[in-house]
Amino acid sequence: MRVIECNACGEVLAADTDQELVRRLREHMAIEHQDAILAQAAARELVASHAYEATDS
Ligand SMILES: [Zn+2]
Repeated sequence: MRVIECNACGEVLAADTDQELVRRLREHMAIEHQDAILAQAAARELVASHAYEATDS
Protein backbone atom coordinates (compact mmCIF):
# COMPACT_ATOMS: atom_id res chain seq x y z
CA MET A 1 0.00 0.00 0.00
CA ARG A 2 1.31 3.39 -1.00
CA VAL A 3 0.14 6.49 0.80
CA ILE A 4 0.58 10.23 0.43
CA GLU A 5 -0.73 13.17 2.40
CA CYS A 6 -2.45 15.92 0.47
CA ASN A 7 -0.20 18.95 0.78
CA ALA A 8 -3.24 21.24 0.82
CA CYS A 9 -5.46 19.65 3.50
CA GLY A 10 -3.43 16.83 5.00
CA GLU A 11 -5.88 14.12 4.03
CA VAL A 12 -4.16 10.76 3.63
CA LEU A 13 -4.69 9.11 0.26
CA ALA A 14 -3.83 5.48 -0.34
CA ALA A 15 -3.56 3.14 -3.30
CA ASP A 16 -2.01 -0.19 -4.23
CA THR A 17 0.49 1.28 -6.67
CA ASP A 18 2.19 4.60 -7.33
CA GLN A 19 0.35 4.83 -10.63
CA GLU A 20 -3.00 4.45 -8.90
CA LEU A 21 -1.91 6.90 -6.21
CA VAL A 22 -1.15 9.50 -8.89
CA ARG A 23 -4.68 9.03 -10.22
CA ARG A 24 -6.22 9.32 -6.75
CA LEU A 25 -4.19 12.40 -5.89
CA ARG A 26 -5.27 14.17 -9.08
CA GLU A 27 -8.87 13.15 -8.45
CA HIS A 28 -8.68 14.45 -4.88
CA MET A 29 -7.22 17.77 -5.99
CA ALA A 30 -9.90 18.14 -8.66
CA ILE A 31 -12.74 17.42 -6.23
CA GLU A 32 -11.46 19.07 -3.03
CA HIS A 33 -9.15 21.76 -4.34
CA GLN A 34 -10.48 22.92 -7.68
CA ASP A 35 -7.99 25.79 -7.66
CA ALA A 36 -5.01 23.43 -7.47
CA ILE A 37 -5.62 20.74 -10.08
CA LEU A 38 -2.41 18.87 -10.70
CA ALA A 39 -0.90 18.10 -14.05
CA GLN A 40 -0.11 14.43 -14.55
CA ALA A 41 3.64 15.10 -14.43
CA ALA A 42 3.35 17.19 -11.26
CA ALA A 43 1.28 14.53 -9.53
CA ARG A 44 3.75 11.84 -10.55
CA GLU A 45 6.61 13.90 -9.17
CA LEU A 46 4.80 14.46 -5.86
CA VAL A 47 4.12 10.75 -5.51
CA ALA A 48 7.71 9.89 -6.41
CA SER A 49 9.13 12.22 -3.79
CA HIS A 50 6.52 12.10 -1.01
CA ALA A 51 4.61 8.82 -1.12
CA TYR A 52 5.61 6.15 1.35
CA GLU A 53 4.90 2.51 2.02
CA ALA A 54 2.23 1.71 4.59
CA THR A 55 0.91 -1.53 5.94
CA ASP A 56 -2.77 -2.29 6.32
CA SER A 57 -3.97 -1.76 9.85
ZN1 LIG B 1 -6.61 17.83 0.01
